[in-house]
Amino acid sequence: MNNISDILSAQKTLFRSQKTKDVAYRLQLLKTLKTEIISKEQAIYDALKKDFNKSDFESFISEYGLVISELDLVTNNLNKWVKPKRIKSSMLTFPSKDYIYKAAYGNVLVIGPWNYPFLLTLEPLIMAIAAGNTVVLKPSELTKNTSKLVSEIIENVFPKEVAVSVQGGIDVATELLTQKWDYIFFTGSVPVGKIVAKAAAKHLTPVTLELGGKTPCIVDDTVDLKLSARRIVWGKFLNGGQTCIAADYLIVKESIKEAFIEILKKEIIRAYGETPKHSKDFPKVINTRNTERLVNSLENVNVIFGGDFDIDACYIAPTLVDEPGLDSSLMSDEIFGPILPILSYKTDEEIENIIWNFEKPLAFYVFSNNKSFVEKTLNKFEFGGGVVNDLLIHFGNHRLPFGGVGASGMGAYHGKHGFDTFSHNKAIVKRGNWTDPPVRYAPYNKKKLNILKKMFRWFG
Ligand code: NAD
Repeated sequence: MNNISDILSAQKTLFRSQKTKDVAYRLQLLKTLKTEIISKEQAIYDALKKDFNKSDFESFISEYGLVISELDLVTNNLNKWVKPKRIKSSMLTFPSKDYIYKAAYGNVLVIGPWNYPFLLTLEPLIMAIAAGNTVVLKPSELTKNTSKLVSEIIENVFPKEVAVSVQGGIDVATELLTQKWDYIFFTGSVPVGKIVAKAAAKHLTPVTLELGGKTPCIVDDTVDLKLSARRIVWGKFLNGGQTCIAADYLIVKESIKEAFIEILKKEIIRAYGETPKHSKDFPKVINTRNTERLVNSLENVNVIFGGDFDIDACYIAPTLVDEPGLDSSLMSDEIFGPILPILSYKTDEEIENIIWNFEKPLAFYVFSNNKSFVEKTLNKFEFGGGVVNDLLIHFGNHRLPFGGVGASGMGAYHGKHGFDTFSHNKAIVKRGNWTDPPVRYAPYNKKKLNILKKMFRWFG
């Protein structure tokens, strides 16, 4: 059963057999998955290390640890989440008991990116299975070692009719997208997101698109410079800057900019040493093509720190760039690497002119102790989710929905939000038979209409 349409056909048959509706079966699979992942913990770190020199520490906090937490959350709560939820009835449906049933969509396709290749393939798979779907997963072709391991883990745990990982690149993804799915969950770039949305539209398949964009980070003059710089350096250079919610660029209050830059430099050296190339904690760029892209983006801009690179070794030092033009190639697209442009502002209008120059970003960061500036800023701009006085950490709270808006994506997941994403809310009214108010039945008359008007007004 290697052909994609055969796999899908087997998954369709299995879904219709009602097997995945059995919550005990889902829980058994998810518990087996957890045992399998735990048994491969070191192998997972080794694969990530081989793929882009990711340290065990970063692999734990940003991939392995989050997957295990998600599995714990779902196995502890699934019996509660799947229960039909009793909803207050309306007088217009009287007498009735009204419910929301959580219903699996059916056959789900998950396409993953390379930048968190363990987390961003397994998390959607876990929630899709928890909700009672079958899954075909396509991990990224760029992280060969991790994607191979993810496929092995899935093969060891799931019958192919329930979940399978299909390896391959654009050709395989394209073939997968020609099939009719009941739900598609895609994480990746904006251009490919558009291809996925177009393919989904052909079959009216619902989609979640987890995309990227240019995430701004504002720093005003009320902050603790050292604490802010330390947090920014951590969040920007984690994963070698290859994080969809990393700060793409800074907008710093002009009066503190010079001082702030000096502290940023010190923090970078503190984290990765004078020669980050030799740091065991600093990940590589994923491949030479992306390294070249990043190196080219440094042409014609003012590099004030770092900037050295080795294309063959997929290395670029953590780099600071001073005031690149908004029309420079560095600022025209999501950077997705260890380069941090620093822009400055004097007035709120200057902040607007920068941020509104770009599509709605996936994340948004503001460092400030001025509460009214923070609230005004959070309310003024559109973005997926954000943090005040830190980077990335909204990702770590499973109670918060994670997703983009506009060009940064549609739909959201994490924790229970993930289970909800892969579940259709079936609205069910169970009508009582002990009485049957005659008002709605023909022949209609003025008196019935007046009663109806009152019912709408009072009980809607
Ligand atoms: P990508 O879009 O190049 O690839 C993602 C997946 O799509 C891969 O599995 C790839 O094989 C497949 N793909 C590539 N070209 C395709 C095509 N023409 N047709 C069908 N499928 C195709 O993205 P990437 O380089 O792996 O990841 C980086 C991007 O992902 C960045 O833009 C980043 O911001 C975004 N991202 C978003 C999130 C999020 O949660 N919102 C998380 C991680 C990454």
